[in-house]
Amino acid sequence: MELGSPHFPFDNSYARDLPGFYVAWEGAKVPEPRIVLFNAPLARDLGLDPDELNTLEGAEIFAGARKPDGASPLAQVYAGHQFGGFSPQLGDGRALLIGEVIDTYGNRRDIQLKGSGPTPFSRGGDGKAVIGPVLREYIIGEAMHALGIPTTRALAAVTTGETIFREGPKPGAVLTRIASSHLRVGTFQFFAARSETEKVRQLADYAIARHDPDLIGDENRYLKLLRRVTERQAALVARWILVGFVHGVMNTDNTTISGETIDYGPCAFIDAYDPAAVFSSIDHGGRYAFGRQPMIAQWNLARLAEALLSLISADDLDRAVESASAELNRFPELYRKAWLNGMRTKIGLKSEEEGDQALFEQLLTTMHEQKADYTILFRRLGEAAIGEPERARSLFQDPEPFDAWISDWKQRLAREDAQPSDLKTGMDRTNPVYIPRNHKVEEALQAAETGNYDPVRKLLKVLASPFEEQPKFEAYSGPAPSEFGRYRTFCGT
Ligand code: AMP
Ligand code: MG
Repeated sequence: MELGSPHFPFDNSYARDLPGFYVAWEGAKVPEPRIVLFNAPLARDLGLDPDELNTLEGAEIFAGARKPDGASPLAQVYAGHQFGGFSPQLGDGRALLIGEVIDTYGNRRDIQLKGSGPTPFSRGGDGKAVIGPVLREYIIGEAMHALGIPTTRALAAVTTGETIFREGPKPGAVLTRIASSHLRVGTFQFFAARSETEKVRQLADYAIARHDPDLIGDENRYLKLLRRVTERQAALVARWILVGFVHGVMNTDNTTISGETIDYGPCAFIDAYDPAAVFSSIDHGGRYAFGRQPMIAQWNLARLAEALLSLISADDLDRAVESASAELNRFPELYRKAWLNGMRTKIGLKSEEEGDQALFEQLLTTMHEQKADYTILFRRLGEAAIGEPERARSLFQDPEPFDAWISDWKQRLAREDAQPSDLKTGMDRTNPVYIPRNHKVEEALQAAETGNYDPVRKLLKVLASPFEEQPKFEAYSGPAPSEFGRYRTFCGT
């Protein structure tokens, strides 16, 4: 090892165990790599030395221009349903998995560069990324993590010194992202679509070893893998809905086997509660609207089930279809339970009652009709729990239906064994004050495009403690001012 060269304790299982599932590849040379954001606490969690990495050598590594010792950079192959249509050949068109490390908790984590140059899977794209989308993924991923939602995370963002043309000239950038794996539904689809059953089996066994090691050797392991992924996705999408998150591009290549949220492109958080909310400029039909996400997740899981069918019961396809369908059919109930339990916590309920769902729906209908801000309303319900409903009430032009709801809620709370102050404490732990508000994200990204990263750093700091009131940062808790207009997001290309 060259002196001063940052050390990564790589252990690259994907490169080692899955030849034929990737192309070994290297990043492009770039003129002037510079670290603009570095996640030192995450580096420490990964067993990496921040002092070694937050350096010029680190910048070169994170740009893809320098290969660290022990790395085996590669572009993964995958397929995917994009907006419902099947693309048999996708893959890392602008990303490189540089390797895996075992973190300080004993978990295997991928280190991936996004924007590091063209690969054999670029399909005419330039393989690059620009500063805005790179920082957007950094900000939203870290915010999701702080909210307790399974997600890939950001280790570093670098600028490359290149000018990349998108809608005009933009600073080139690369994101280093950490994931518990980059296995996607689309990875299975790639081999299943080519009837390469043995490859599907090899991939499934790899996924099991990585995410569900208790299933190793189980004779029903492929069906059980489908079950586990179904459970993880149901839990994940419930968390999205509970916090008001719209992924925006729930293609099967953006659906993980691990159950982590991945690929923050045209995503956004809702202000007012609205199941029909769509932000992505390319989602014309509203396929990936806020309220449709559970249904779409189940649809994506059906694509995984199809890819696994020949493993589930090789000699009896009808039986395989029947047992896979039984797993998929559990999704709505798994989702509903996760959502109901999350909603109970949001309004301070510990016990379960038949009528709870109706109580939640009554509130959401009122919020929808009167365009109440989702995040602020739930946070202010904590105040209502200690007898101060005025600020929650002020979110409704016509407070009458809300007053009626408060009275039903109070009756329901009376059947719980809880002190009001404990109620508020519990609710405040689940109802955030701060989410990445669209106008704040845009403001920070625009500053970054001119080389000023202070607003991004400030935003990241606020979002790192989403459940704590931070008096200096009150401006970060409100919805967009009306002049911000209707929010449109674009794919992170
Ligand atoms: P995404 O929408 O980011 O999930 O990407 C979908 C597919 O397009 C993936 O295979 C990406 O690798 C590929 N892709 C996106 N942007 C680019 C780009 N600028 N150059 C090459 N490939 C890209
Ligand atoms: Mg993707």
